[in-house]
Amino acid sequence: MMKKNILYLSVIMLILSQVAARAADSYGDYPTYDEMFAEIYKLEKENPDWVEIGEYGQSVQDRPLVYVHIMKPGGENLPEAMIAANIHGNEWIGNRLAIAVAHRLVENRESDPWIASLLDKMQFYVLPCLNPDGYYKTWERRNDIDADWKESRKNAHGVDINRNFPLPGARTVNISMAGSDDPDSERYTGPHPYSEPESAAIRDFVAAHNIFASIDIHSNWGTFFPPKCNGSACEKRFKKMMKAASDKQPHSKYPTVAQWQVDSFSGEMEDELFYSYGVMAVCWEVFPMKFAAEQKKRLKHSFWGGNPENIAYWVENDRDAVLAALEAALNITGGKPVPEKYRKVKLH
Ligand SMILES: [Zn+2]
Repeated sequence: MMKKNILYLSVIMLILSQVAARAADSYGDYPTYDEMFAEIYKLEKENPDWVEIGEYGQSVQDRPLVYVHIMKPGGENLPEAMIAANIHGNEWIGNRLAIAVAHRLVENRESDPWIASLLDKMQFYVLPCLNPDGYYKTWERRNDIDADWKESRKNAHGVDINRNFPLPGARTVNISMAGSDDPDSERYTGPHPYSEPESAAIRDFVAAHNIFASIDIHSNWGTFFPPKCNGSACEKRFKKMMKAASDKQPHSKYPTVAQWQVDSFSGEMEDELFYSYGVMAVCWEVFPMKFAAEQKKRLKHSFWGGNPENIAYWVENDRDAVLAALEAALNITGGKPVPEKYRKVKLH
């Protein structure tokens, strides 16, 4: 009996030590860079008629910039929707959400009539990791709770890719959130717009396609941020799009923060996609800050200040909401670029 107890105890100790080793050497259920890519290539391999993976460029450190194209066979002329994530290298929940949307579309294309109807109306480009060097850098810092966290947000040149797009109009608010020309800032704009291969590749990708709407996924505000609009008529269209999204959120309904009078251009992707290409582009912030703060305190690593421990819960909250937003944008635009009158920048 004694021996048996010791055996049990040693087995339990072994399991506990393995759990501890994994916890210290990982970010819980979040995949490594290689595991993340293996996941999307598996999706392509298992669904060759529906999924095609392609490269639209390379990062500073020559990592591939990858899109996952999901299209009904013969759907080449359908309007094109985009779901992009992880432009900030340490915001891995965005990557999880984007890939979950891809799984949802591919795996439920026959079993769920709503998904089937979406695939009848549009094709999808999922860009799950706009900043692969940042993803990799984040992984390397998994054991370093004192690491300079702001560096993991940026690309390998130390530029915030989401402050590296051209400004459609003047920067009217001079706060660090709107971008900084200080290379030490976590929101360093870079030497000039499109100085970075990652942002230039997004420009070239969008220019080569007919994207009518884009969801650019971030964390941790639990909020929808449309582009800075030129007036209330423009803003109304975005509010309608985002109402469709929050109606689909079962756990936490995000507010839409849009105040065209006080918002400022800041070199963010959604402003450039909207003004230059007429894309109904929205910044989508998963995971409200109040939860993030508690989690970061408990788990003692900055990673957990931006990424929920319970991935499934937040994917469930936001996955169908992303698709509902794109469906609403399709209804609003007919799959065509937003008319100029909504995106003409007032000079005075
Ligand atoms: Zn972000």
